[in-house]
Amino acid sequence: MFENLTDKLERSLKLLKGEGKITEINVAETLKDIRKSLLDADVNYKIAKSFTNTVKEKALGQNVLGSIKPGELMVKIVHDELSNLMGSNASELNLSNKLSIILISGLQGSGKTTFCSKLAKMLKDKKNKNPLLVADDIYRPAAIDQLKILGKQIDVTVYSELNNKSSIQIAQSAIKQAKQDKNDVVIIDTAGRLAVDQRMMEEIASIKKAINPDEILFVVDSMTGQDAVNTAKEFNNRLDFSGIVLTKLDGDTRGGAALSIRAVVNKPIKFVSRGEKMESIDIFHPKRMADRILGMGDIVSLVEKAQEQYNEGLARRLKKRIAKNQFDFDDFLIQIQQIKKMGNLRDLISMLPGMGKMVKEIDVDDNAFKKIEEIIYSMTPTERANPSILNSSRKSRIAKGSGKKISEVNQLLKQFEQIRKMMKTMTIQKSLNKTFRRK
Ligand code: GDP
Repeated sequence: MFENLTDKLERSLKLLKGEGKITEINVAETLKDIRKSLLDADVNYKIAKSFTNTVKEKALGQNVLGSIKPGELMVKIVHDELSNLMGSNASELNLSNKLSIILISGLQGSGKTTFCSKLAKMLKDKKNKNPLLVADDIYRPAAIDQLKILGKQIDVTVYSELNNKSSIQIAQSAIKQAKQDKNDVVIIDTAGRLAVDQRMMEEIASIKKAINPDEILFVVDSMTGQDAVNTAKEFNNRLDFSGIVLTKLDGDTRGGAALSIRAVVNKPIKFVSRGEKMESIDIFHPKRMADRILGMGDIVSLVEKAQEQYNEGLARRLKKRIAKNQFDFDDFLIQIQQIKKMGNLRDLISMLPGMGKMVKEIDVDDNAFKKIEEIIYSMTPTERANPSILNSSRKSRIAKGSGKKISEVNQLLKQFEQIRKMMKTMTIQKSLNKTFRRK
């Protein structure tokens, strides 16, 4: 995500590092570079211009005090302005009503249906809500099926009416049912077209009028750059939506949409999605995004993700097993599953400072754990619990069963032994520390 922009901004800011103070002359070159980086990332040109003007004003107005170097000051100013451009603070969903109605709009293929289910899952898991999903696309029966499949996956009811050709009626009946069933959120997935057209706009505007939603979210594919911004403008003119959802930030997006859309339509980005998995959805935090863009990683989100998946019971069990040197392949599998729940592995690594642009070069993908899991699944329960019994005939059976080479099984066993040793050392270290502290 945004690797090129990050690279270029880092390079432009480096130009100032050696300077003693910020002057009109030395800042001009850096600003020119920054503007070019933004334009290359497909940021709207008016926004790129006003961005660099603001940065210039702030930079020249600052006294470089004490040990702060001009380069560092400039990084701070650029960081603050990037964050301001994207809205400064995170903007929460309005869920204050007894039954909150969320209408989802956007073009076909933008990721609307996927987002509806991700949002339902997020509200269910993290906000303890009881959502109802509504398939309100009267043109594509396949869209209804898609939402039903996703609903089943996340265990959320999907309301649909195959033979009703009025999207307003469907939305109204769904809300009625939600009230009866004591749901507290209704998420309505609407029809999308390949391009903005009058009929689609009229249809969704009349749904809005009929049901008066608490939130209207506009879903847009961030890979479409300035097109995303133009589509947002058209939808906003007609719908006056309450927030934006940027999807496909895991792809090769240059960043233009993320950086321009808020300033152009003056509506907050509320969520971002970085993958197809149901867990790949995040509340949008402008400051953290600015950190990422400037190559500073996003430790806060990483820690949050780890905390969300933290399971006290499992952690306690694991601690005991490690202390007794009983960590086995079943524990290893549980650990892998916990990490996978945190999201896309590439994305997790990119949250580490300085790793963002390196992720491209590192050979990790979402299937990184698949090979390991396949090998472990080919072991018998006794073997998983007692790795020491794995002799060569067992190893060759496991290799065959998992469709892997013997060398791959050996490699996993070696890695497993190393992890076990490391864990043991860590617990010994910890108890030594405790003993010393007590004394
Ligand atoms: P809709 O037509 O707007 O409802 O779009 P869909 O929800 O059907 O999504 C279109 C395609 O984009 C599907 O193949 C989704 O799996 C995929 N998709 C949705 N969100 C993301 C995302 O954040 N990242 C990636 N890589 N793919 C996504």
